[in-house]
Amino acid sequence: MSKKILITGGAGFIGSHLADFFIKKGFKVSVLDNFLTGNINNIKHLYNEKNFELVEHDITKPIRFKDKIHYILHFASPASPIDYLKLPIQTLKVGALGTHVCLGIALAHKSRFLLASTSEVYGDPEVHPQPESYWGNVNPIGPRGVYDEAKRYAEAITMAYHRTHKIETRIVRIFNTYGERMRLNDGRVVPNFITQALKSKPLTVYGDGSQTRSFCYISDLVEGIYQLLFSRITSPVNMGNPIETSILEFANIIKKLTGSKSRIVFKKLPQDDPKVRQPDISMAKKAFQWYPGVKLDDGLKKTIEWFQQNLK
Ligand code: UDP
Repeated sequence: MSKKILITGGAGFIGSHLADFFIKKGFKVSVLDNFLTGNINNIKHLYNEKNFELVEHDITKPIRFKDKIHYILHFASPASPIDYLKLPIQTLKVGALGTHVCLGIALAHKSRFLLASTSEVYGDPEVHPQPESYWGNVNPIGPRGVYDEAKRYAEAITMAYHRTHKIETRIVRIFNTYGERMRLNDGRVVPNFITQALKSKPLTVYGDGSQTRSFCYISDLVEGIYQLLFSRITSPVNMGNPIETSILEFANIIKKLTGSKSRIVFKKLPQDDPKVRQPDISMAKKAFQWYPGVKLDDGLKKTIEWFQQNLK
């Protein structure tokens, strides 16, 4: 009998890639989504799979499942800084109430629970690169605080259920990830720059572009999450690509790969925008030899191709 896996936010960018991955591995996959930021087009191709089901539901509200659920991956959440501004309360609720509901299901079904956490728990970091042992530098009342604090709470309640109810839990702290199915207009740097470059519009660099990020291709992340789920590590694990670039450099990479003649323009840096970000991934490397193998240029080429097909 196939094991059943529930993926909240399964119609989102990362969630839908996880759904594909676990269907291919022979699992029964239940995608749960309320389509606030998820997209039906990300999962339509799975409708004919006998092991696939879609549950349209808001995970902040209780829900019961009859059939045994073996694994829960909690990936539901708005995930772009623009979304946090538009959907601050939903962002807080899905991290807090949504995680609580998932843990309740995990308790009832004796499921293993994996939380999608984030590099945002480190805030604007004063330690670089960021190891899991760093407690972070978050502004709780700033515009990003709704996401950062929701995820920090989610980690706290996950560990509380693990310690109190002995639930098997895993926590992945995901750093910037990119690839096919990112929302075209979600406002993050990858969709923005690619869309702007393809439409010959100016690339909007915020601040002077000296802030850094480290970009991981989706297939590397999905493989890492799979490894983590079946590892024995209950403390948070960073996942991301440790190769760091400045945002200005990144704009030039996108220009080169798209062959675009777009100009680069500088706009105001959003409040609390982290100045640096790079994962220390020694824990994942040591525990299950995980290391992202897809080169930035290769991942971006595939992503650009997908944007070309999907931009109107
Ligand atoms: N950024 C930018 N231009 C854009 C969108 C984002 O310069 O059009 C910058 C943003 O200020 C941040 C970095 O790119 O420093 C990554 O932003 P993103 O929204 O992708 O996610 P974050 O890593 O901040 O969560």
